[in-house]
Amino acid sequence: MIASDLDTAIASLRDLIGEAERIVPFTGAGISTECGIPDFRSPSGLWSNNRPIPFDEYVASAEARREAWRRRFNIEATFAKAKPGRGHLALASMYRMGKVPGVVTQNIDNLHQASGVAPRDVVELHGNTTYATCLDCGRRHELGPIRTRFEANGEELPDCDCGGIVKTATISFGQAMPEDAMRRAQQLATDCDLMLAVGSSLVVWPAAGIPLLAKRNGALLVIINREPTEFDEFADLVVRNDIGDALAPFIHH
Ligand code: NAD
Ligand code: ZN
Repeated sequence: MIASDLDTAIASLRDLIGEAERIVPFTGAGISTECGIPDFRSPSGLWSNNRPIPFDEYVASAEARREAWRRRFNIEATFAKAKPGRGHLALASMYRMGKVPGVVTQNIDNLHQASGVAPRDVVELHGNTTYATCLDCGRRHELGPIRTRFEANGEELPDCDCGGIVKTATISFGQAMPEDAMRRAQQLATDCDLMLAVGSSLVVWPAAGIPLLAKRNGALLVIINREPTEFDEFADLVVRNDIGDALAPFIHH
């Protein structure tokens, strides 16, 4: 059912959220657009001018790595000033009430953690761009020192003491999914009674399979996206409104 207008959407959400015992949000870039972080696939999104750099290219080519770091530092000011939006705050309220055992996200912006969800309860399917890791030994590297050296020394690339390549802690196209996060996401989806798919175009696999897994296991499925998605026909409720507008009534301080 597609909610006919915002008030109907909010009333339906209120019923579903009120009746649910285990709500699992599955979030995408759309929940963070009001925080100033562009998504990929909206008309104003990043996709067209920034062809994603596939994982094998990053590993094989120093120039690809320099380009990846240039882009990362270009967008740093945007990430650094982003604060959780109304969608994040509403989900964090449900979490505090004990209704949300964990938040599954495709986002890499750390805003669910910033909204008050404990880091251990944020399941990041595509990693996190606010720090870097070594592809060989897994050691964490901070972005600040990497940037200083990159900018002072003619785009010097970071490397790890072990000799490994350093990359933001995100999952690129062609890179293996994080196994532990996938397992936890599947578990949360299987055990929930309400799945809220918020601000995802639901076209990036295998992440997009998580909301469907919940539906197949008996959960009710809500899709909140201002544009149609391919899964709308499977949803019990489709909300085509702005995410912040639809979820603001569920913020409790
Ligand atoms: P996407 O860009 O493919 O889709 C975002 C969806 O959100 C679109 O379908 C759009 O219609 C909807 N949307 C945007 N703003 C909205 C709003 N205010 N209200 C309602 N709907 C809104 O994003 P995706 O499905 O998450 O896939 C992109 C991938 O790129 C992700 O897997 C993620 O790893 C990465 N990414 C992350 C961020 C971030 O961390 N904030 C930003 C861009 C891309
Ligand atoms: Zn290393």
